[in-house]
Amino acid sequence: MMNIDKYTDAIKNCRFCFMCRHISPVANVTFAEADTPRVRAVMIYGATLHPEWWSNPDYVNMLYRSDLSRCCTRHCVNHFDENSLNIAARTDIVEMGYAPENIKAIREELLAGQDWKVSGKADVLYFADPYSAEAGIDKVFDAVMKKAGISYASVSGKGCIGRALKVLGFAEDAKAAMTKFAAVINASGAKTLVVSNPAAYQALKVDAAECGIAVNAEVMHTSEYFLSLNLKFNNKAGKVSYIESDYLRNYNELTFPHDLLARLGAEEQHFGASHDFLDVPDQQESFTCGEGAVVLPRIDARVVEKLAKRVEEQADDPANDRIITASPYTKLCLERYTSLKVETLEETVLKSL
Ligand code: SF4
Repeated sequence: MMNIDKYTDAIKNCRFCFMCRHISPVANVTFAEADTPRVRAVMIYGATLHPEWWSNPDYVNMLYRSDLSRCCTRHCVNHFDENSLNIAARTDIVEMGYAPENIKAIREELLAGQDWKVSGKADVLYFADPYSAEAGIDKVFDAVMKKAGISYASVSGKGCIGRALKVLGFAEDAKAAMTKFAAVINASGAKTLVVSNPAAYQALKVDAAECGIAVNAEVMHTSEYFLSLNLKFNNKAGKVSYIESDYLRNYNELTFPHDLLARLGAEEQHFGASHDFLDVPDQQESFTCGEGAVVLPRIDARVVEKLAKRVEEQADDPANDRIITASPYTKLCLERYTSLKVETLEETVLKSL
């Protein structure tokens, strides 16, 4: 049995359906039919009839170019899981030995540095993952905790804790990474593990459970954790535009970011108001620049740049809009390729204290 066989309903239905193509983020910047859920499903169905396609470089590159935002699955009236189908197809490619050289090179980078270090001992443990550290969000978290008078320990390291390996199709490596990281967390004795990166939330809260890996600490996104502290805020956040996270909203339907913004006194402006779906704002395409794909910049940086430029086009007033994201990855991408002013929820909290 192949991994794609778990998603035959998506293969059968998506291949005849155009209903979500308008919110398919990568297709909206490449203008390629091959980047829509429909044609990916057509091509995956085609590979079941023509197995030689699995080793065709163009075909394989098409499957690795997607954003994995899950916005199309969420938008779909039947929620056909074209997103998991895509990951399953990648996993089949890896298991058949057809992973391209660039993807194998990324795997090597992700496997290196899986020697996470814990600093301090406390009930609360903060995970300074590579994207959060690069964006300086670990320091912002530290400043909030100092103001709140709460001591905490931290864990950091460059290696992948499993999610990036999983989305690249290296399922066994992903499970091994999660097992290793969970052992570090469990040995720390922490009761709560706080993460800024939504992909880390997915790995530790969802993927680990699916693999039967016990993470003894309660895993919380920073937005959920800050809400639980009942902090006193002195400054109202005012007008902000929030970009939904793929992992928090499309994968897990979490509303903590919005609850936190409400607590901060924010007046949320719908981001992407010029979008076709203004009348149904909740059914929106993803503006995360590929948060769901975790390492898309290493696969195709040109696509990420185009995704970022599209986000810039959606801003009502690019020079002045205050744009909030739950994702350090999204902040990094938007700052790299656009002039937008972007802050993460941690920064918004710090400014409000
Ligand atoms: S996910 Fe749903 S809306 Fe999108 S192509 Fe498949 S069946 Fe159509």
